[in-house]
Amino acid sequence: MKLKFVLLALLSFAAATQTFAQSVCCLLGSSSLSGLGRPITGNLNTTWEKGLLEDHAALVKLFNVRPHMFYLEEAGGPNAFATNQVFPDLLAAEGVSEKDSPDGTIFLGLKLIQMEARNTKGSLFSLPAILAHEFAHAVQFKTRCVLQGKKRELHADYIAGYFIAHRARFRKQSTSQAAKNFFAKGDYMFNDAQHHGTPEERWNAFWAGYQLNKASKAPSGVYAYNEGLRYLRGLK
Ligand SMILES: [Zn+2]
Repeated sequence: MKLKFVLLALLSFAAATQTFAQSVCCLLGSSSLSGLGRPITGNLNTTWEKGLLEDHAALVKLFNVRPHMFYLEEAGGPNAFATNQVFPDLLAAEGVSEKDSPDGTIFLGLKLIQMEARNTKGSLFSLPAILAHEFAHAVQFKTRCVLQGKKRELHADYIAGYFIAHRARFRKQSTSQAAKNFFAKGDYMFNDAQHHGTPEERWNAFWAGYQLNKASKAPSGVYAYNEGLRYLRGLK
């Protein structure tokens, strides 16, 4: 019975990985890169960058999805976003082939990172949660996830919660601070209840994903993804 469930879950995950959806998730409203800012290629060699790259690698391993991550010099306010689009010129500037990074792109804004650094007194504990939320959108693009709007966002929050618990198995972190900063973003559209859900809805989804990982013995991105869908089916 259990094996059957896992196989079904794998099939539903695999069957949906054929083509790409056309959409963008971002913290602020623009959907074009030119309106959002200037991508930055190459390493920044900061103290926090190593941890961020490790988290990205852990997410790739967990979900077997490979979006490339770039930094962004935001045109407006602090921002981060995921798109199913691949940017060959940016990849080439980093010496990465499209073949090795085929699953869309994640941009993390430098203003956002600086703001998080201030809010967390330099620890940047909330950054992995933001990265995991955007990474979850890359997984949704690849799987042609049918969820739209708020439910799509809450599914990404569920996966972010799962990843934060997963990460606690091998990295030092403050989960409460990660969650607090992640959901306390009233100063820009990240907490737009119409788009992303209310802070309470977002926290509930994050916490449900977190608890799923805590109750699991072996981490599985497929399991987290499908349980996230199941969680959302139970919501109005
Ligand atoms: Zn989102």
